[in-house]
Amino acid sequence: MNIQDFIRDISDFPKPGILFKDITPLLANHEALVSCADQLSSFCPKDVKIDKVIGIESRGFIIGAMIAERLGAGFVPVRKKGKLPYTVKSRSYGLEYGEDTLEIHTDAIVPGEHVLIHDDVLATGGTAKAVCDLVTELGGKVVQCNFIMQLDFLKGKDKLDVPIQSLLTYS
Ligand code: AMP
Repeated sequence: MNIQDFIRDISDFPKPGILFKDITPLLANHEALVSCADQLSSFCPKDVKIDKVIGIESRGFIIGAMIAERLGAGFVPVRKKGKLPYTVKSRSYGLEYGEDTLEIHTDAIVPGEHVLIHDDVLATGGTAKAVCDLVTELGGKVVQCNFIMQLDFLKGKDKLDVPIQSLLTYS
């Protein structure tokens, strides 16, 4: 099974010049979905117990929750501004196509907890960096950021000072 076969390229979405990596064919195929979650879970360090898996809105929620289940960890959503109901910590960041603000509940991470961050795509790294900063501010330790794919030409990994794992790399 080649996970890459289930990623659909959409040109000029959501803006001209962006080649959007659409994971919905992967989500729609049971074997591909399970394989993706199994592989990303197996990439996690074995010498540390992950307490929380963060999924980044919205495509990071699905496989992020599957990884949490496999690791015996809790799941924490990081959401766009204004979506979370309780008190939040916020961080603004730059995107490949715009700017946004992400939020996390202030009680989502207990100081000292080991955290794994998951998202579908690592592009410029602004999103993942903002989430790493939120976790650190709450006293958590980011053990790894993992992604279905990383777009290496956008140099996102240069922004992150934590270990990174991806199933697919586009150069
Ligand atoms: P960045 O902050 O630039 O690393 O962007 C990562 C976030 O934007 C992730 O949440 C992705 O879902 C989304 N994203 C950025 N670029 C793309 C792309 N080419 N295809 C699909 N999603 C993308």
